[in-house]
Amino acid sequence: SEEKSLNFIEEIVENDLNSGKYETLVTRFPPEPNGYLHIGHAKAICLNFGLTQKYGGYTNLRFDDTNPVTEKTEYVNSQQEDIRWLGFNWKNELYASDYFDELYGFAVKLIEKGLAYVDESSADEIAALKGTPTEPGQDSPYRNRSVEENLDIFTKMKNGEFADGAYILRAKIDMASPNMLMRDPIIYRIKHAEHHRTGNKWCIYPMYDFAHGQSDSIENITHSICTLEYVSHRELYDWFIEKLEIFPSKQYEFARLNLTSTVMSKRKLLQLVNENLVNGWDDPRMPTISGLRRRGFTPKSIREFCERIGIAKRENLIELSLLEFCIREDLNKTANRVMAVLDPIKLVITNYEKGTEDLIGENNPEAEDGGGTRVIPFSNELWIEREDFMEVPAKKWFRLAPGAMVRLKFAYIVKCEDFVKDENGNVTEIRCTYIPESKSGSDTSGINVKGTIHWVSAPHAKTAEIRLYDRLFTSETPDAEEGDFKDYLNPESLTVLPNAYIEPALADADLDSRYQFIRKGYFCLDKDSTADKLVFNRTVNLKDTFKK
Ligand code: ATP
Ligand code: MG
Ligand code: MG
Repeated sequence: SEEKSLNFIEEIVENDLNSGKYETLVTRFPPEPNGYLHIGHAKAICLNFGLTQKYGGYTNLRFDDTNPVTEKTEYVNSQQEDIRWLGFNWKNELYASDYFDELYGFAVKLIEKGLAYVDESSADEIAALKGTPTEPGQDSPYRNRSVEENLDIFTKMKNGEFADGAYILRAKIDMASPNMLMRDPIIYRIKHAEHHRTGNKWCIYPMYDFAHGQSDSIENITHSICTLEYVSHRELYDWFIEKLEIFPSKQYEFARLNLTSTVMSKRKLLQLVNENLVNGWDDPRMPTISGLRRRGFTPKSIREFCERIGIAKRENLIELSLLEFCIREDLNKTANRVMAVLDPIKLVITNYEKGTEDLIGENNPEAEDGGGTRVIPFSNELWIEREDFMEVPAKKWFRLAPGAMVRLKFAYIVKCEDFVKDENGNVTEIRCTYIPESKSGSDTSGINVKGTIHWVSAPHAKTAEIRLYDRLFTSETPDAEEGDFKDYLNPESLTVLPNAYIEPALADADLDSRYQFIRKGYFCLDKDSTADKLVFNRTVNLKDTFKK
């Protein structure tokens, strides 16, 4: 068998464990609870949890909730649900906000070491002294305050004595550093805002860079894995840990997942939700994990996708069709084949005198356990797809047309004898005769037909609404287009077929069942279903457009 080569992070981890640098591998997944998780997060989840599944140790779930304004408990709950659904379990559920006291202490420690100072310059003044990537910045006039004065003002900041923006706390590093982030970065700001967990206890909040690395260190995270945007933050990450003399977590960066025909920032997805451009975070067109779940994706297919795209050091763009390939591969083995007629037209068999009979259908010839069979009722009145009949057949047309024969899947061969039209010229009914000796499995008719079509017995059928989905955006890279990404939304991303007919066996469908509607794609029940009206989502069509 083929040995899978290690990705670069696995190599680092193996080296660190083999050399004894760490005894136990500890990783974390650190979402900000400011939205629902998306397929990009799934990649980070599979990477972090995958490492500790492979090498031992454990993974923490840490909510990176240091920004009080955008964070909500609803998001915390949905993020947990999504990680569990993907198949992963965290060791500890933690919140960066639980470290506010410790982080405050770290800030005091830096002030005491002469490595942080309070600045009352305006944002514009700070920007004016920041320099440019090619020119050094200049020191703030407040850079050399005494330790005592800094401690005094910082305490008053914490005690709520100042308005938002009156003061900030900055690390005292190097205004001439070639790395702009090292030019005395802001580490605390005043924000009189209620926090989803700490309420009104705090009116100062740490900046991301001051919270993230120290939270890693508090938790003894050995390998802190993040996306490439943080490469330039690494120097600062290391500086804080070194100056604070705390557990030396190390940051490693990989390329984020970018996927065609969608957007993947929570901020942008939130806009789509708030502006009702989609039907919520779990709209089946969304790249969110909850949207993919509702669409019918399985956890396995998403994990497989993350495995296939691998871990890269450079930005790249992955085709959405690869994700579709992965779900198709999974459902091909697991989804029962059933019949559903999406755009129905009546077919009457004029010489069928038995009334009804029960036929036997194979559930899934691709299933590992053989798939079993089920009963399919048959009668002289069927629904078939409107597109399976042509009044004037095209060349190489093997389906129904006047005088033509076709096999009804799992049933008999029928011959089209006639058809009925309404006053507008629309075909409303197709009239056929059937060949009694042609029953599937015991066909002695000797007739060969090229076309096989699906059908549903009209007196037995259940009605359903079917929702078909297309790409959410018309551009492959809506983020990179000129103007607003929302200008590139696909107006045809959702097609609703309100009057489909399905096999009666589908009345038992639950939200976890997945089906192949023969010739139509893979489908799952939607949560909008009621006892009177079942709603099915098309997860993906049958055709594989992904070029390997
Ligand atoms: P967003 O802009 O979507 O909110 P984010 O990075 O701000 O993304 P976080 O909640 O902070 O979102 O992300 C949690 C973790 O998931 C981080 O470690 C981040 O690097 C990772 N992550 C986010 N987006 C992607 C992506 N597209 N590909 C891979 N990892 C990602
Ligand atoms: Mg983030
Ligand atoms: Mg974000």
